[in-house]
Amino acid sequence: RNNAEKFEFQAEVSRLMDIIINSLYSNKDIFLRELISNASDALDKIRFLSLTDKEILGEGDNTKLDIQIKLDKEKKILSIRDRGIGMTKEDLIKNLGTIAKSGTSAFVEKMQTGGDLNLIGQFGVGFYSVYLVADYVEVISKHNDDKQYVWESKADGAFAISEDTWNEPLGRGTEIRLHLREEAGEYLEESKLKDLVKKYSEFINFPIYLWASKEVDVEVPADEDDSTDEESSESKSSDEEGEDDAEKSEEEDGEEKPKTKKVKETTYEWELLNDVKAIWLRSPKEVTDEEYTKFYHSLAKDFSDEKPLAWSHFTAEGDVEFKAVLFVPPKAPHDLYESYYNANKSNLKLYVRRVFISDEFDDLLPKYLNFLKGLVDSDTLPLNVSREMLQQHSSLRTIKKKLIRKALDMIRKIAEEDPDEAYDKDKKDVEKSDDDDEKRGQYAKFWNEFGKSIKLGIIEDATNRNRLAKLLRFESTKSDGKLTSLDQYISRMKAGQKDIFYITGTSKEQLEKSPFLEKLKKKNFEVIFFTDPVDEYLMQYLMDYEDKKFQNVSKEGLKLGKDSKYKELKESFKELTKWWKGALASDNVDDVKVSNRLDDTPCVVVTSKYGWSANMEKIMQSQTL
Ligand code: ADP
Ligand code: MG
Repeated sequence: RNNAEKFEFQAEVSRLMDIIINSLYSNKDIFLRELISNASDALDKIRFLSLTDKEILGEGDNTKLDIQIKLDKEKKILSIRDRGIGMTKEDLIKNLGTIAKSGTSAFVEKMQTGGDLNLIGQFGVGFYSVYLVADYVEVISKHNDDKQYVWESKADGAFAISEDTWNEPLGRGTEIRLHLREEAGEYLEESKLKDLVKKYSEFINFPIYLWASKEVDVEVPADEDDSTDEESSESKSSDEEGEDDAEKSEEEDGEEKPKTKKVKETTYEWELLNDVKAIWLRSPKEVTDEEYTKFYHSLAKDFSDEKPLAWSHFTAEGDVEFKAVLFVPPKAPHDLYESYYNANKSNLKLYVRRVFISDEFDDLLPKYLNFLKGLVDSDTLPLNVSREMLQQHSSLRTIKKKLIRKALDMIRKIAEEDPDEAYDKDKKDVEKSDDDDEKRGQYAKFWNEFGKSIKLGIIEDATNRNRLAKLLRFESTKSDGKLTSLDQYISRMKAGQKDIFYITGTSKEQLEKSPFLEKLKKKNFEVIFFTDPVDEYLMQYLMDYEDKKFQNVSKEGLKLGKDSKYKELKESFKELTKWWKGALASDNVDDVKVSNRLDDTPCVVVTSKYGWSANMEKIMQSQTL
């Protein structure tokens, strides 16, 4: 086109498009839900803006917040349009090609090592999945602040933008036209599209329509030879009126042939494909597990076959009223801890009275719970204020508090319902149900994916420290290669044992050989292995649990009960320890003592109570080097 401006895709985007277009990936279906999801996002945006500015929706058809899918079988075009916020020329340039999203390179990397294209939406590059099925794509868009533009690309490294002077005006919103590839003919079948919308877009909160053909019975004039009489009678001249009367009398006798007949004809009309249902408004008793699972998939843009590990659906009443659904995903997202301290991105969608407000609300959940997915719909928050004002609303604090409590309850329940977690003997005899099998090993799975988050929670959330400590799992000298908990540790404590013993290091294998364990093992005390770097920090915050203090066995202060010979030994080695302390310069050691923690090893370096353990020294060094 003459007035088209040409642009090159940003290199990462171009690489991504190459991967997509050359993909042999069989599940090409995913493009449709990505486009519908984008349409839904755009509709959410305009609806949100209309809360504070009614004019923004315009009038007539522009006020209809819906999504329309249309097919042109002859030209092999599939188009999806919405009356969402639309894109200005600048938006088109920025959003569709020149600025790579933060997830782009991560996704490209994943795809090069055999990643799952299915997860494209999670990386924020879902739009480009259109090139799974199309070789040429047009994006026509009209934003309130700009003219109508067309973005087009054949995925050949470049795209073009032109002011739209030839298409019908959209009013507002976006239409994506996919010129389908030869082998993507199945997407011209209405039934295929209906199935896909049912399967993947069930929980979209706007009506989705398909311009669907319909066979209808229509009355048409009966065939020529049958109807000669009637036709001639219509063009009757007045002098033939007599005959007409005669015919009428025949009709009354019931012998006349029908004037019209019924035939099938194809007509088109907008067919609604989804019933817009807010699952969170329903009673939890009425929602099936399958519905929750599907809702999770759509919320998390995670269309793997995996079920969420747990969910919690509840209504909070009182001063602050809201409904919420929380999910523990089956897997941690790729970037969960990547920018942990910089980004405060919660994965909860906030609605106010059914209207989507934001999915970037910082303060709905604390950072350490950012792995949860879900939704909050508040009846208490005001609707007609800016996002910034909402962010400061006092009831948010109450919402957050309740969400944390519910989230921790939900996680605790994964453990409670997991038969593998039932260590105590009484529970082992409980009859096994099918349900048991499904829940078996779920907590270990949870711990594997999100254990670090629980530890970060213990560090950051003093209020819930004890609740979080209950969720902690680790291996110990007595856990037999399995995970165990503090409660279980306490239940195994020896009579007279006051402290909870632990040791930190880089691996269990290394720690098992530690001289610090000699005496403890001999005396049959259980010692916890902490082998994650974060554990060192964790133990600076976790001082006690159920009135028991934590004792690092490599640190000063280890008490293993009375040893009758100890006093005697201490006395007889007094001179030696004194000499030794003097021999080592005083800035090298604080003290030299007769130890009661060793068995075979002659001596060991112990850290003072508030000093860094050897492991911590190592961690700090690796960070500064
Ligand atoms: P994501 O949806 O995760 O942001 P996409 O690749 O699906 O990533 O879309 C890229 C961007 O293009 C969106 O963030 C949005 O700004 C814009 N966009 C895509 N489709 C539409 C649409 N139908 N209406 C308005 N903007 C859209
Ligand atoms: Mg998207």
